[in-house]
Amino acid sequence: MINKLIAWIIPFLPEKFIWLFSKKYIAGKNFHDALKIVKLLNTKRILTTIDILGESLHNKQQAKNFKKKYIQTIEKSSEHGLLTTFSLKPTMFGLLNDFEFCYQTIRQIVASAVRHNFMIRIDMEDSQCTDLELALFKKLYGEYPCNVGIVIQSYLKRSLSDLKTIQQFSNPKHPVNIRLCKGIYIEPPDIAYKKKDEINTNFLQCLDFILVQNMFPAIATHDKKLIRDCLSLISKHKTKKNHYEFQMLYGVTPRLRDAIVNEGHFMRIYVPYGEKWFNYSTRRLKENPHIVYDIILGFFVRN
Ligand SMILES: Cc1cc2nc3c(=O)[nH]c(=O)nc-3n(C[C@H](O)[C@H](O)[C@H](O)COP(=O)(O)OP(=O)(O)OC[C@H]3O[C@@H](n4cnc5c(N)ncnc54)[C@H](O)[C@@H]3O)c2cc1C
Repeated sequence: MINKLIAWIIPFLPEKFIWLFSKKYIAGKNFHDALKIVKLLNTKRILTTIDILGESLHNKQQAKNFKKKYIQTIEKSSEHGLLTTFSLKPTMFGLLNDFEFCYQTIRQIVASAVRHNFMIRIDMEDSQCTDLELALFKKLYGEYPCNVGIVIQSYLKRSLSDLKTIQQFSNPKHPVNIRLCKGIYIEPPDIAYKKKDEINTNFLQCLDFILVQNMFPAIATHDKKLIRDCLSLISKHKTKKNHYEFQMLYGVTPRLRDAIVNEGHFMRIYVPYGEKWFNYSTRRLKENPHIVYDIILGFFVRN
């Protein structure tokens, strides 16, 4: 209740105030802000994935502007020799309005990534997007198997079945790169697990399947106990260090992040930046008011 109230109030507070705690999780407004952070992380042997913040599509010109921004970011990242990939949300490119337009637009971003030897991850959004995002991924992967990745959310009851479908078209020479996360959106109980232990059990079942099928898992969680259970599975399957990676969000659990890096595992940090940071922060808060708790915690606890 208190979370919901705070989430409702936040959009009415001054941007400067919101920035005080958002800056812990968002690199800044422009590429140079992201560049500083990515370079710093890279010097610590930490990889990154850069995300440009935006809203769902309002018109095609907006999507074209975002495409331009992604391509410029890819080119500048290449100039600076960054150890990074890129993450994007298909609804910013019209996924729910015009699938073909969305596919063609993202395809141009992927083509730019191919030219500079980078990878683009299709983020997974709420459940109305799942089928469309999987279809989009399948099309892009068919053309550029080394340069696109997808996300699977363990709170969805369908996820293991989706992985079985993905495995059928995964190319053994370039196995599908799958970010496995719990999922951030609020979904109804008929399609999504609600209890933490059920979500975690499904997470481990999905990871087990990915490892057995020799696909590439990017294990995206800050849950310490779950990470230890994932590491047990990795050692059970004798998976080599370059056949998996961990991922975390920028600003979240940096001590745990460093401990994993010091144990010799690959780690990639999700670094969001963009002018739309305020809308993004407040929209995410409305989507999932539980984040308020973490943000408030982050405001008081300095790691
Ligand atoms: C790299 C990356 C990419 C992601 N991509 C997607 C995606 O494409 N689609 C999607 O639906 N979800 C995505 N997520 C979000 C994910 O699904 C979870 O909602 C989020 O990571 C929180 O779950 P958790 O696994 O960390 O476990 P939790 O049990 O939620 O958290 C474990 C602990 O981590 C800390 N923590 C977690 N989140 C935060 C936070 N925001 N601020 C402060 N502390 C925090 C807390 O201490 C908490 O107790 C992504 C997450 C990561 C790390």
